[in-house]
Amino acid sequence: MPDDTASSWEARASAHSFYGFTDLPTIRDRGPVIVTHGTGPYVVDVHGRRYLDANSGLWNMVAGFDHPGLIAAAKAQYDRFPGYHAFFGRMSDQTVMLSEKLIEVSPFDTGRVFYTNSGSEANDSLVKMLWFLWAAEGQPERRKILTRKNGYHGVTAVSASMTGKPYNSVFGLPLEGFVHLTCPHFWREGLQGETEADFTARLGRELEDVIAREGAGTIAGFVAEPVLGAGGAIPPPEGYFRTIAPILRRHGIPLISDEVITGFHRTGQTWGCETYGFTPDAILSSKNLTAGFFPMGAVVLGPELSARLQAASEAIEEFPHGFTASGHPVGCAIALKAIDVILNEGLAENVRSLTPRFEAGLARLAGHPNIGEWRGKGFMGALEAVADKPTKTPFDAALSVSERIANACTDQGLICRPLGQSIVLCPPFVITEAQMDEMFGKLERALDQVFAEVA
Ligand code: PLP
Repeated sequence: MPDDTASSWEARASAHSFYGFTDLPTIRDRGPVIVTHGTGPYVVDVHGRRYLDANSGLWNMVAGFDHPGLIAAAKAQYDRFPGYHAFFGRMSDQTVMLSEKLIEVSPFDTGRVFYTNSGSEANDSLVKMLWFLWAAEGQPERRKILTRKNGYHGVTAVSASMTGKPYNSVFGLPLEGFVHLTCPHFWREGLQGETEADFTARLGRELEDVIAREGAGTIAGFVAEPVLGAGGAIPPPEGYFRTIAPILRRHGIPLISDEVITGFHRTGQTWGCETYGFTPDAILSSKNLTAGFFPMGAVVLGPELSARLQAASEAIEEFPHGFTASGHPVGCAIALKAIDVILNEGLAENVRSLTPRFEAGLARLAGHPNIGEWRGKGFMGALEAVADKPTKTPFDAALSVSERIANACTDQGLICRPLGQSIVLCPPFVITEAQMDEMFGKLERALDQVFAEVA
């Protein structure tokens, strides 16, 4: 039962704060968890209870909640120069250095970076860039954006329109011109008797058909997450990007990799596009970019789009776009440190070396009669609950199975995320073997408890 005396943190939170993406019945029954601080992969609430955060905050706190090097980098930059913008030809030295570093670690030989405050704004900005450059090149009708059902690209009006989730209909979204293709999830979307290779080929044909139906000359770009994150940690079927990339190239449609989650080693390589062997025309980054220590996003344009955007801007003597905090010097200093910490201080290596243990833990729990599938890549993983395993029949939505599992985890001091009927795990990169075992042990007890209640 929540402590709802008027002075409790929980009551105060509910009285004056909105909860985004939160199951309100859970809040009514159990109250929120109000956290005060964290150590390593754990967070601590106002009552002193400690939780292992198996979701790295919101995928982003990959270096843990108290990384001394990141805190020192932030403090040093606040002492040196606590804030500036990137308008009117001015820009902080940290911003210059971060752009150089991002191009250096990108798959691109050259290119340019534009900064935002979030992943949504990175998606939104990218769409505006495409609209702007196509129009400048005499093709203003190239405005449609192709994405996938169940893909997640953010919450602004444009990035929510790119997002392929039905809940956006409550806002009257998507806007016109946002086209959602089949979710590339073989286990759910594959047809009876279809092989994974057949499924990939079918998705390729679908893309060809959509381009033919809409007209290549009306399409501005195709945006995809290498692994669907908020869709439920869904890796693509074998050969997916190798199939779609040449089709897009043939029609002159830019391929954009939304790496807000997958960027900086979540899938075991610096970028998800490296994991899946394709070179996009641009990368969208956020979250791990600052290890969650500062709100920041980035649009990293490869050589061709960079040159085209530059030419479009030169034509009207300006790129009329920007946020007050674009390229904030403190965020950039933190990002420079975060990239170094992830790449050079053992975090990337820890993801690589513990991935087999992570996958083994998921596979073991998938032996449960009510887990239909485990899936994942690197440190992204999910277990999907089913009422009936052979037929993959989901539980009655009214049972709120994944919410119940997540709540049972919370009771045991484990934070993990319910997504549809799946439980998503994306631990911080600093997690140890023992902590990973703790994570799976607690989740197993929660699964046993909830399936005993509902199955
Ligand atoms: N793109 C992807 C792939 C994401 O996972 C997210 C957020 O989870 C976003 C975009 C939106 O980022 P933000 O929440 O920072 O706006």
